[in-house]
Amino acid sequence: MARWTEVADGVLVRRYEELDLSVGLVVGAEGCLVVDTGGDAGQGAGLAAAVREVTPLPWQVALTHSHFDHSFGTEAFAPCAVWAQRGCRADLEATGKEQQQKWARHYRERGEQEVADRIAAVRLVLPDRLVDDGAELDLGGRVVELRHFGPAHSDHDLVVHVPDAGVVLAGDLVEQGAPPQFGDAFPQGWPGALDGVLALGADVVVPGHGDPVDRAFVRRQRAELALVAELCREVAGGVLGPAQAVARSPYPEEFTLAALAR
Ligand SMILES: [Zn+2]
Repeated sequence: MARWTEVADGVLVRRYEELDLSVGLVVGAEGCLVVDTGGDAGQGAGLAAAVREVTPLPWQVALTHSHFDHSFGTEAFAPCAVWAQRGCRADLEATGKEQQQKWARHYRERGEQEVADRIAAVRLVLPDRLVDDGAELDLGGRVVELRHFGPAHSDHDLVVHVPDAGVVLAGDLVEQGAPPQFGDAFPQGWPGALDGVLALGADVVVPGHGDPVDRAFVRRQRAELALVAELCREVAGGVLGPAQAVARSPYPEEFTLAALAR
């Protein structure tokens, strides 16, 4: 069962068993911000109802990136402002249908027909408040910063910083409990993006999957990602063979994808 945890005053995180997904809710005096919407229409509707158990205030949505598990539940919140980095909208326009078919097939093949049906039923909602490098959002007595630190886990990762609470919701720039995912990644940009996250100075960082972490965890993951980036450079330059790189990678099972990435 999904449940809310309050990680700071008025900043809540909801964990799902499926994919160990974490979504966020930031509550101000006049409005609230839902950070990521889950992976299908049912998850989105359940999340919307769960938000209403916390607050009756009007909501806006921020999407950390376009991957289906973070962005496919948005319809349950429409009509409302949907914030994202500019590339997120472009990517949903380009790959949304494809992602929908791919993941519906994935769950059907795993025998999870109900989940497959819910993904197939998704009506994609495109973000309409587009951010380049940053934006500020006033929720009433509380300003939230949206920041983009360049291509990393995707080409459009958006982090949500709540300065008065010392919390950053980092999407899949940070991953706890499983290796970072490189399917659409830019390994060379990722360490720098985490420098950007660390420079915000927040004590609590909420990953897109897994438990909230501290700055020391982010620094360790940053060092691992820097090593992955270095190994990718050495493989691309012919200095290192793929097998040697895999052996030295902190995420051997993800390394081939990382090396194939841009
Ligand atoms: Zn992702």
